[in-house]
Amino acid sequence: MAKIIVKDTEIAFCKKEQEDYISLTDIAKFRDMQNPLPVINSWLQTYNAVEYLGLWEKLSNTNFNHYISEGFKIESTKLFFELSPQKWICETNAIGIMMKTERYGDVVYAHSDIAFKFAAWISVEFELYLVAEFKRLKTEEHKSFGRSASKRAEKKDISLHDQVKKQILLACKMLGVQAQNEYRGTDWRADVFALGSNGTKYAFEVQTSQQSLNRTLERQAKYQRDGIVGCWLFEKEPSRMNVEREDLPLFKIKEVDGQIYVSLKERKELPLDVFVNDYLQDKIQFRPTLSILPKVDIVFMEMDCWKCGTKNHIYYIGDFVSPCNTKIHHQEAMWNSDKLVFRPEIIRKVREYASSEKGNTLNIGQIKERYSKTTEHSYMSFGCSKCDSIFGDWFVHEATIEAWYGGGVVDRISFDVSRDVDPKFDLRLNVPHWCHPGEHEFCK
Ligand SMILES: [Zn+2]
Ligand SMILES: [Zn+2]
Repeated sequence: MAKIIVKDTEIAFCKKEQEDYISLTDIAKFRDMQNPLPVINSWLQTYNAVEYLGLWEKLSNTNFNHYISEGFKIESTKLFFELSPQKWICETNAIGIMMKTERYGDVVYAHSDIAFKFAAWISVEFELYLVAEFKRLKTEEHKSFGRSASKRAEKKDISLHDQVKKQILLACKMLGVQAQNEYRGTDWRADVFALGSNGTKYAFEVQTSQQSLNRTLERQAKYQRDGIVGCWLFEKEPSRMNVEREDLPLFKIKEVDGQIYVSLKERKELPLDVFVNDYLQDKIQFRPTLSILPKVDIVFMEMDCWKCGTKNHIYYIGDFVSPCNTKIHHQEAMWNSDKLVFRPEIIRKVREYASSEKGNTLNIGQIKERYSKTTEHSYMSFGCSKCDSIFGDWFVHEATIEAWYGGGVVDRISFDVSRDVDPKFDLRLNVPHWCHPGEHEFCK
């Protein structure tokens, strides 16, 4: 473990995917030698920290759960708010902070950008020393380790590349598909060239070193010209590749404990052999939009009337899931249509349930248009079962966010939309993607 010393405090750092991570636990020791973790937690619980972390992840992490992070931001203004590194990582899929188990217990590491922010919160003077020391170290590192590091990278490169090729060849063989290593065409050369049973030609390209998007498109164009289906497996995606595209089937691979996986973004990770198998059988196809499985979740939560104090219940619609496993929050999907919660079909379901034996403890007021003095117009709203006061949008939103973390949730039901709701019920998101629906049908 590499260490630097700043103001008599030893600070450990390490690398993760070429980025520098610095021990927040060590930095916190500058404030409290014996008990560093609570120091980290109290920083995490500040509005500024949550806001910064959210922005940082948004810029660097495509799998980041922005909604949860926004929820934390709102919560952070409240007194009872608690946030630990584990909770942050676990709920938002953050990569800027990570936990490592070391000899003396769990240590919290953060990307150097974030670590400097934290250090500044501890003490501006400390931050200045830390940044200066870290810069000095980096310059030295570049000078002395540059050559040997690139040699090491090359060596690792060759082995992963070969490993992936081997597995692709094996998967083709298992499927009874003819495949050839390092096949040479007119002006291209495929890592693995396969001939499907129906005559379709495939070229698998494994890329473990950097290759720009333009260069990749150039090479892909040659395959297209020769009527070959390309398939690009990158260890590190080209930097300008921020959306999935139909003209370039490009997927990220990674190795976990000797197993190689192909990632279909946050949707799923397939073992390489499964991926190759399904790709050759056309079970992975490009779709311009995400659709949802016809299933609605209704989540009931507590809501006390602001006027008379009566305990009421309201509800929200849980996340939808696409056939290929994207979680779609309904607010995201519904930005230009009626509020889903108040669709007649949904209200009918809720009423049915609330009058059934199972749901009879729910106390749900009328759902109708009410006039709001705050916004000076009428809108569809929840309201009190006793005094009929309107539950304003803002309070409903607040309660919903709290319920996402389990606060105040009392019950939930789930029902099949295809059977119960009109056929117009259809949500789509313009998210072009390589769809792998498994046992479901492809996104529409
Ligand atoms: Zn009331
Ligand atoms: Zn899909």
